[in-house]
Amino acid sequence: MRKVGIHQCVVNGTTESDWPKVKGLAQDHPDLIIPSYGLHPWYLDQRSDHWLNTLVGLLKESPTAAIGECGLDRWIKDHDIDLQLPIFKQHLDLAVHFDRPITIHCLKAWGNLLTIFKESTVLPTRLLLHSYSGSLETARELLKLGAHFSFSGHFLHSRKAKVREIFHQFPPDRILVETDAPGMSPPSQNYQLEDLNHPANLPEIVAQCSQVLNIPVEQFAQNSRNFFNIASSQK
Ligand SMILES: [Zn+2]
Repeated sequence: MRKVGIHQCVVNGTTESDWPKVKGLAQDHPDLIIPSYGLHPWYLDQRSDHWLNTLVGLLKESPTAAIGECGLDRWIKDHDIDLQLPIFKQHLDLAVHFDRPITIHCLKAWGNLLTIFKESTVLPTRLLLHSYSGSLETARELLKLGAHFSFSGHFLHSRKAKVREIFHQFPPDRILVETDAPGMSPPSQNYQLEDLNHPANLPEIVAQCSQVLNIPVEQFAQNSRNFFNIASSQK
């Protein structure tokens, strides 16, 4: 990642067993890695009884840590939305309490998401809808709440023209860029490692996203710094 010019990026943990690995990365490379901790809706069955205490401990010991991935998913087979809803709500409450940015995964559960947001008396000030795949109507509701949206390298596939069209409608200062590594690969040509979606693909994805959306690369860097409240590390 350093070799391809990445100065800083966020790494998300998605299960309790990920969290120590993310923490270790951030400790080994404090200038490069901003840790983020959450329970992804696909892996809720793997959680322990004390996951919430562990998460609170991690947030307390790392003032720059973000929250996520967490969220709602009605696309995955055998999903249990009644289990997902309260756990997601607990992540939102933590983001409010500790005033941390929160990265949200949402697939085919937009009604549930908007309902939670409408019923909440306080919302986190920094909401990121990662790899946003909802409609423009939903996006408009989320924009009113101050939400940001991240563009994934996966959206560079030709078949994702509709998603790119929605990103065209967003204010440029609300868009961040991600790899979504190791899943959701971008079109493979021109990337560092052909068969693996590696975090080092980020600069190439940012460059292509910049072309597609006609937004300068520096704007994305600034958006990320603003959202995750980080100082510029560029010398
Ligand atoms: Zn996700």
